[in-house]
Amino acid sequence: MNKSPGQLIVLAGPSGAGKTTLAHHLVETFSTAAFSVSTTTRPMRGSEIEGVDYFFAGREEFLKRIENGYFLEHAEVHGHLYGTSRDWVIKELAHGGSVILDIDVQGALQIKEAFPASILIFILTPSPDVLSSRLSSRNTDDPDVVLRRMEVAAREISWIGSFDYYICNSHLEDSMRQVESIFSCERLKIANTSFPPEVRAFTPDRFSGREYWNGKRVIVTSGPTREALDSVRFISNRSSGLMGCSMAMAFRDAGADVLFVTGPACISRPSGVDTIPVETAEEILEILVREVEKADLLVMAAAVSDFRPSDFHDGKTERSGTVHFEFVATPDILEELDRTIDCMCPVMAFSLEFGPDGGQRALGKMKRKGAAAIFYNPGDAEGSGMEASSNQGKLFFTDGSYVEVKRSSKRYIAELLAAAMGRYLMKGNEG
Ligand code: 5GP
Repeated sequence: MNKSPGQLIVLAGPSGAGKTTLAHHLVETFSTAAFSVSTTTRPMRGSEIEGVDYFFAGREEFLKRIENGYFLEHAEVHGHLYGTSRDWVIKELAHGGSVILDIDVQGALQIKEAFPASILIFILTPSPDVLSSRLSSRNTDDPDVVLRRMEVAAREISWIGSFDYYICNSHLEDSMRQVESIFSCERLKIANTSFPPEVRAFTPDRFSGREYWNGKRVIVTSGPTREALDSVRFISNRSSGLMGCSMAMAFRDAGADVLFVTGPACISRPSGVDTIPVETAEEILEILVREVEKADLLVMAAAVSDFRPSDFHDGKTERSGTVHFEFVATPDILEELDRTIDCMCPVMAFSLEFGPDGGQRALGKMKRKGAAAIFYNPGDAEGSGMEASSNQGKLFFTDGSYVEVKRSSKRYIAELLAAAMGRYLMKGNEG
């Protein structure tokens, strides 16, 4: 796979706001967009067609499917069950298609939870009266049902703050243009596209070796970790998770099957990779012990908190006078893995160092940790390090060679590092 996964676009809002019309408009306008046909337990309406408007199922069958994990999300709406097929959506996205969901607000929130990169669009009518008259004029529901749907609408609107976009559907033509714009803009976002192939074409040498990753399994750890002091406080560091997230995207776009183990970073999770969120260094270690033998590369971009409090205080520590905490070192993940794992995959480590002998310290770390390569980035260089969007440094290899990376965006650097690592391992494999 050499293309980015598609977008997951959710149109939600009260029944009668016009979601279905706008969803179908997207599918008719963009050849890459496909409509997700939901399953429901509600009886079929006059003009509806099985498999086109909905898949109709009995309640018992629906409940069985919930248990089997068939649905990506499901909800009870106006007394009937509705759900989205997990397999169908995941397959479409993996092939680079965009999926349009026309679902209720509860379902939209579940989707955002499972796919933080999904785009939620809230559709509403310009007033309650317009919604009420649209519902009445459908002639499919009696007045009681319309009243109930208006009550549900009020509850749904309270979730508008969790959405990414809002469209007030007063004039259908305007709403169509707006939803088209959202679709187009999201498609153009750097975060949602592969790293532009044109960029690689301008400097092909820098990117050779990228092809090595096609079909390989890569684990990327990322972000800071948090070690709890008490029920509300923790010790952590300033890592934004951007470098790790960029590494995950670079390997994904090179065709690797990526497992992304991420601490609580503030950037959104990349689509098209398996993500496991974690909090502590111990949790990262546990996952790696399970997964690392199946991997072709482990990228240790996580900035683990090097210390944790020796005691955890259940509850909230009172603010009074001087408080003493004692800290102990968290486990050195690579050393622990080395001790526990028989067949360790190659490791690409990261080393943020300060001072003039930072490079030497990074080399020492590479040796000590048995890594195949280490990316040394000087924390005191301008535009470098934890909270910056750019970075720079040297990727050292155990054979004494290195690749120098001048200051550029972390996303670009990640592409260079993935390619350089591929070149290095290709050489090793051949020789
Ligand atoms: P209707 O029965 O009028 O077609 O749809 C009722 C409500 O259920 C609408 O808000 C519609 O968007 C929502 N809905 C349709 N399919 C799904 C689904 O798969 N999941 C969820 N959560 N809601 C759905």
